[in-house]
Amino acid sequence: MPQRPKLVLVGQLSVYPWVFEAAERAGIDLILVPRGDDTVESAERADAVVELLPLDIDGDPEGALSALADRYRREPFGGIMAGNERVVPFVARAARELGLTGLTEDAAAVVRDKRSMRRRLREAGLGVPGFVVIKEPDGWSDALTLRFPVVVKPANGHSSLGVIRVDDRDSLEQAVARTWKLIEAHHLGAADGSDPDAGVLVEEYLDGPEVSAESLVHHGQVRVCGISWKGELTGPYFEETTLRAPAQLPAEVLAAIEAEVVGAHHAFGVTEGTTHTELRLVGGVRPVLVEMGARIGGGGFMHCLVHVGSGIDLAAEALRIHLGREPLCWRQEPVPAGHAAAYQVSVGRGGRMKRIRGLDAVRVDPRVDYVVEPVSPGDLLLPYPDFSGYPVMVISRHESDAEAEEYRAHLARTLHVEYEEQG
Ligand code: ADP
Ligand code: CA
Repeated sequence: MPQRPKLVLVGQLSVYPWVFEAAERAGIDLILVPRGDDTVESAERADAVVELLPLDIDGDPEGALSALADRYRREPFGGIMAGNERVVPFVARAARELGLTGLTEDAAAVVRDKRSMRRRLREAGLGVPGFVVIKEPDGWSDALTLRFPVVVKPANGHSSLGVIRVDDRDSLEQAVARTWKLIEAHHLGAADGSDPDAGVLVEEYLDGPEVSAESLVHHGQVRVCGISWKGELTGPYFEETTLRAPAQLPAEVLAAIEAEVVGAHHAFGVTEGTTHTELRLVGGVRPVLVEMGARIGGGGFMHCLVHVGSGIDLAAEALRIHLGREPLCWRQEPVPAGHAAAYQVSVGRGGRMKRIRGLDAVRVDPRVDYVVEPVSPGDLLLPYPDFSGYPVMVISRHESDAEAEEYRAHLARTLHVEYEEQG
């Protein structure tokens, strides 16, 4: 029998089961490089993991790369894939040095930098809001030329951390200072933790509901596998609580989203792997990119929305691409299985978490496929615009979009984070 393929999965938090389960389904063994905040017990227990390979990617990227190369020389593996946003450039570099499938380093740098994405989209003639790059906190007044409201955000952020809507010019200076502080506190700069790339982007507010598009890309050919509805997120902070798939939109709007997403892949030079693209539908109809991440979105749960909504086993296909193989859905048309929803309980005021009220009923609900709790009682949760983790994710499946929406509303009414009393 041929040996099972092995892939190095970098920084995929092991409490998020989706990519691990996909590897199991696809018959792929995983060498897991645990994320800094993962625990050995949990990482070892994850499906398909045959080996742990701890690397200090943030603290010592050169050392991490040479340890990875040593491991490869001892026994070659067939691929490497990023399990979170921050490691995308490291994984691209490792793939190139080891001769494995991956993003070019240029493309990896582009999708980790919202300034570069905006410039590339503009050059390609795709939709972009007016934007101004701010290089130091005092430079905030450069953005006064924009049409307000605007959105202030870290140039290399994630999870809506430090993303703030500003409605009038008088509030801009304070918002930029606040975002800048969060960039420093979270070391949101270059991938290796040093901060020469740190910066703030201010862009005009795109008024309209938000959608997410999950794609596979192989040898430069892009397939948009699923489009999910995120709905109206008006700020001032952009905590993401809800997604439903497939998005119920007119065929011409879906086609316009697809065209924009495919064009963005070309503009960024993203030719291999999987992507999570967020867009606003300006005026409800005209798609404009917010950003793209070269990884599976939502810590992996976007896989579920695609898998149920379109039948494509997104996470397994992504692993195949990173092993240098053609995704199965390139030749075999998958069959959609219904509607799916993801709900993330709002952090609310933040504090030391005591428990999540209302979860017992969710756990036994037959519509619920996953209840994932990345944080534990006693953990400190920071309210937006800061970010320290999602309290709980509920992934469910439904007969119709209306039922998915009704269940989401039910969860919003019944699930709450309870905090310890502030002393
Ligand atoms: P992050 O990498 O932190 O997720 P994003 O650029 O995706 O940063 O911004 C987070 C959220 O803020 C988006 O999902 C969107 O809801 C909102 N947002 C960001 N930029 C804009 C914009 N120009 N117009 C409207 N909303 C925006
Ligand atoms: Ca985002």
